[in-house]
Formats: sequence, C-alpha cells, structure tokens
Amino acid sequence: MIQADLHAHTTASDGQFTPEELVRLAVHLELSVIAVTDHDTTAGIAPAQLAARDQIAVIPGIELGARRDEQKVDVLGYFIHARHPDFQQRLQHFQQNRLQRGQQMVQRLAALGIPLDWPQVAALAGGESVGRPHVARALVEAGYVADTREAFDRYLGRSGPAYIARETLSPEEAIELIHLAGGVAVLAHPIYVPDFPAVVERLVPAGLDGIEVYYPAHSAEIEARARELAEMHHLVMTGGSDFHGLNVPGKAMLGSALAPPGCVDALRERAANGQAQLIPASARGSTDT
Ligand SMILES: [Zn+2]
Repeated sequence: MIQADLHAHTTASDGQFTPEELVRLAVHLELSVIAVTDHDTTAGIAPAQLAARDQIAVIPGIELGARRDEQKVDVLGYFIHARHPDFQQRLQHFQQNRLQRGQQMVQRLAALGIPLDWPQVAALAGGESVGRPHVARALVEAGYVADTREAFDRYLGRSGPAYIARETLSPEEAIELIHLAGGVAVLAHPIYVPDFPAVVERLVPAGLDGIEVYYPAHSAEIEARARELAEMHHLVMTGGSDFHGLNVPGKAMLGSALAPPGCVDALRERAANGQAQLIPASARGSTDT
C-alpha cells in the first residue's frame, strides 16, 4: 500500500531537517511518497529527489502563503515544474520584497530616533525573512516598549509610523501561479482558514484542485466537512503531516497524516490534464519534474 505524506518542510524554508535528512526519515518510517512543500521556495526539491534515488518518490511541491483581508490562506502546489522561469521570477520577487520590508521598517524606526541593530533583528527571525513580530520583539528587547502589543500600537500597526505594507498574493493568484508552473493547487490545512467552506466555494471557480482533508490537527468534524466539500466540487482529497522537525511546538511527526488511496495518481492526472491545456500537444516535449 502506498503511504504518502504530502506536506513536509525542509531547511529550505522553516523545517529543521535538510532535504536529505527528511528523505532518510521518510525511508526509515517506510513511507513510499513524500511531497517537499517548503514555504514560497522550491530549493529543497532537487536535493530531496537526488537523495531519494529509487527508495521513495518525492513529489515536487510548494506551499504559497496567500492572504485575503489579512487572513492567511496557504495554498499547496503539487507536481510543479520547479524550474519554470516565470514561476521562479515571481517567487524571487516575493522573497526580495519580504527581505526589503524588514529592512525598511528598521530604517523608518531609525529615522524616528529608535535605532535597532539589524543583525540582531535578523537573528530574531531565525533564518526566516524579518516580519513585524520580529521587529516588535527587537523593540521590546531594546527597551523601547514594554511589550510587543505596545510595539504594534505605537509603531508597527497599520497606521503606525514604521508600518510598511506587505506585498502578498491573493489565494486566487497563488492558484494561478501554481497552474503557471504546471502544478495542481490544494487548499492547505482548512482548520487554519477561517470559514473555510466559504473560501473553498470562492476558490473553486478560480481553479482550486484539491483540499488537504487529512491533517494532524483536524477534528472528525472538520475532516468530514472538508471531505463533503471535496466531493461536492470534485476536488482531490489530500493529506499530510506538515512536518517541520522533531518536537516543534504545534507541529506533528512525519507520517502522522497520510493522503488517502488514489490521491497521488489523482493529483498527477490533474496536473497532466492542466499541462495538456496549457501547452498544445504538438509543442509538448519531455518535461522536467
Ligand atoms: Zn506547511
């Protein structure tokens, strides 16, 4: 039987395990398929596939952080062509934007007479791009404010003097971007999406392909509701653990949620159909997955 965990992070984003270590663990756990789904980057895919050889299948994936009305809506992509130039260009643009935003907030604060040490702020982000919570913590640590709440109230909130708007994708744009790379788009962990049935209804016309029905934090009710929606809209039901490492607070072990039987084939087929629509058969050559 195929044991597929379709949601795992590596050190390419915020995971603790290198792609090679992730593959080793997956083989040890006797999984047959994993998907490498790092946040907004595809850098972990190739090393994982190289390490996997023929011991385990590694699906090229991604988890795009999208937002609607300040609400996070993560969209997973599967069977993406990671090297698609337009796709990579868009990812790099967002990376650059996130990097610059942190620095711009620190520059604004300096202009207000509140100098922060950039390397220290960056260290608080622990390798991730610097966001408002990191700057807020730096302000607390430097003694400028009593707590992060005050940091937001006085400086970093939407109307604060050090606020820099963040460039984000809408969930629809995330789906479009995944399709551009020849992949299938799946709504990640509906439990973390407020009013997810309404979100699914809105994203189906935008081309949503699936829902992550099986997820460690899902209650039986959420799972049932997600399954019902998937059936109603003919979406692929997927599953994965959202593995980030061992003993990561709030995160589960690799293999603790699995994709249902037939899922991987359904995703592959849907990706192939989408690609067939994008590229006329006459122009299709060999593809790199
Ligand atoms: Zn994730």
